[in-house]
Amino acid sequence: MFDILLTGGVLPDGTQADIGITGDRIAAVGALAGSPAARVIEVPGDLISPPFVDPHFHMDATLSYGLPRVNASGTLLEGIALWGELREMATVDDMVNRAMRYCDWAVSMGLLAIRSHVDTTPDHLRGVEAMLEVKRRVAPYLDLQLVAFPQDGLYRSPTGRANLVRALDMGVDVVGGIPHFERTMEEGAESLRDLARLAADRGLMWDVHCDETDDPMSRHVETMAREVTRHGLGARAAGSHLTSMHSMDNYYVSKLLPLIAESGMTAIPNPLINITLQGRHDSYPKRRGLTRVREMQAQGITVGWGQDCVLDPWYSLGTADMLDVAFMGLHVAQMTHPAEMRRCFHMVTVDNARIMGLDGYGLAPGCLASLVVLDAGNPTEALRLRPDRLVVISKGRVVAQKQRNDTVLSIPGRDATVRRRL
Ligand SMILES: [Zn+2]
Repeated sequence: MFDILLTGGVLPDGTQADIGITGDRIAAVGALAGSPAARVIEVPGDLISPPFVDPHFHMDATLSYGLPRVNASGTLLEGIALWGELREMATVDDMVNRAMRYCDWAVSMGLLAIRSHVDTTPDHLRGVEAMLEVKRRVAPYLDLQLVAFPQDGLYRSPTGRANLVRALDMGVDVVGGIPHFERTMEEGAESLRDLARLAADRGLMWDVHCDETDDPMSRHVETMAREVTRHGLGARAAGSHLTSMHSMDNYYVSKLLPLIAESGMTAIPNPLINITLQGRHDSYPKRRGLTRVREMQAQGITVGWGQDCVLDPWYSLGTADMLDVAFMGLHVAQMTHPAEMRRCFHMVTVDNARIMGLDGYGLAPGCLASLVVLDAGNPTEALRLRPDRLVVISKGRVVAQKQRNDTVLSIPGRDATVRRRL
């Protein structure tokens, strides 16, 4: 007797399967139609995927677009300056309410695990307090991992290091970093040595905003990879953004990528944000500002896609849809081969789950019963349509549902409804 039985679905690898859920676990996958179940949900021909995962977000800033002003230049640096004002104005309640609203959006999109950076720069640490409260509230249905992020620099801000350590002591899960924002290249490198030691000593994961710049000489990822190897952090470390790699000399990159691969660290490009923020100092041709995704994957490096921002000082759009993120990444990285398009879907599910180190993730028996049903027949169609999420189940409970919603067409001689699925 299952608690929930999904019938007639299609898994991301194309297998047709029913899924039986008991308690918070997937109990069986296969031909289960007719089995006794407290609740049967028919999903004929619909894609059943493990939930979407976002390994890079800023939940303390989300849904604040226009506060205190819009970002007129569209640059990363103006965004940081605006955030510096906003974090002094925002109360804990403001940040909790905005973040909880964003988490509702995330659940409705089948996004059930998020790693969010939280700014540890201000002495009041209100953002940390707020995000720890959000983490506690959403825990029954959404896995929220928090990164202690020294937005204004570990050393550049006078209390930057002390506050980052305080945030970790308060319960923040992951060590952050921003070496390209320290005063000098040497201080950036020193910050990486310092932070890697901190992560290793505390047994924590490490996720660094690394080389988010168009400067091809911003080579902190080299030092980061060395420190990851030195401390044996492997896949527990992630380099976020890595946009300078886009502009680096090809010979240098041919040496760099094997160093990153050797370390076992992972990479998180954020295509929606960096296609808009980078290249702002260029005339034409304008650089795309996305790191070398396919080239890293060819070296065996795990690369995920991150959302980064929704409606905040850095980005004026966003819907908590990881398919939007993968769609943009697919375009900017030119991942248009059928295998690469499937890979893009894999990146916002399985690869991102590996980056976050999620336990029990997947659709096999014994995994946590968390999944999303999409109004699409396969992962590539899901990327093309970015369709409705028909059912979202988190840890054995249905947390979101949406009616299939086809357009009614009124054209003589043509079908009455438009189905964009093939
Ligand atoms: Zn970020």
